[in-house]
Parts: sequence; structure tokens; C-alpha cells
Amino acid sequence: MAKEKIQVDFRFRDKLNKVQGGKHHNYCYQCSACVAVCPAARFTEEFNPRVILLKALLGMEEALTGEDSPIWLCTNCYSCYERCPQDVRPIEVIIALKNMAVQRQKAPASLAKLSDNIAKTGVSVTVTSAVNRRRQELGLPPIKTIPIEELKEILEDPQGAAKDSE
Ligand code: SF4
Ligand code: SF4
Repeated sequence: MAKEKIQVDFRFRDKLNKVQGGKHHNYCYQCSACVAVCPAARFTEEFNPRVILLKALLGMEEALTGEDSPIWLCTNCYSCYERCPQDVRPIEVIIALKNMAVQRQKAPASLAKLSDNIAKTGVSVTVTSAVNRRRQELGLPPIKTIPIEELKEILEDPQGAAKDSE
């Protein structure tokens, strides 16, 4: 029986190269060092950073930025960033893929609520008065107020905000 052939899609790789954090995927030599330290890979077979990099190298756009993509299982712990001998920075490639999925409107719907909350309040989960009371009981300091106006400026013009801070 003939094996299914996979054609490398260089157009997707070019697209990924242009997204911030994406271009280092080219340096991956599939050693699996990132898998050895990845907490998400330890708990589920669905997630494997080496396989994500392999699919990026093959240009498998739908598998990586479609609705069933495993990229959302990454915990953003950055262990792979420190371990990778090739400076691939797998977490940054995964963030680039997440941004591409959001642009394609393929990100999980639950994330939209979280990002709306961040845009409105500066935090992903609303801090209620009950939370603050409990913190007081536990002797914890109140949660710092987020400078919302500053956050709005950054969200409206991220590149301008980056230039201002240079
Ligand atoms: S991303 Fe780095 S650590 Fe992971 S497989 Fe590729 S070269 Fe190895
Ligand atoms: S950042 Fe994501 S891919 Fe990297 S080690 Fe942590 S969970 Fe795994």
C-alpha cells in the first residue's frame, strides 16, 4: 500500500516567519529536549512541542491554527525556551501560532471572554469584594489597581507604546 505523501507548504512557513516569535521554528532539529521538560506533554499525549515544531516545518496550517489545534494546551511556562539547544524558543513559536489562530477566528470561544475581561479590567478573572475580603482574612495585601487608561493606549496602538518606552 502506498504511503500518504506530505507536501511541505512553504507558504505557511513564510507566513509564520513574519509573525513575531515565529521565525525561529526554522532552527528546530527535532531533538525532543523541549518535550522532556514540558509539563503539558507530561499530562496529555495530545500536546507535544516537538510535534508542533515538526508540523510548523511541514507547513501544516490547519492542524496548527485550526479549531482542533493542541497549541492551547501549552501552559506558557517557558521551560522549553530555556532547554532548547537550537534557540528555537518553542513557546514563542506557539504564541505566534496562537496569534495566527486568533486572526483566522479559530481560537476557542472561551478565550474571547478572558481577553474581553483583560481589555476592560486589566485582569483575566474579575476580582470581587469577596475575594478582597478573603485576602484580608489571610493577611494578604490588596490586589494592585491596574492603570486601565494606560492599558487601553497599549491595546489600541501596541507599536506606538513600544516606541514610547524605548
Ligand atoms: S524545539 Fe528545540 S528542543 Fe524542541 S525539538 Fe526542536 S530543537 Fe529540540
Ligand atoms: S511553554 Fe508550553 S511548550 Fe514550552 S514547556 Fe511550557 S507547556 Fe511545554
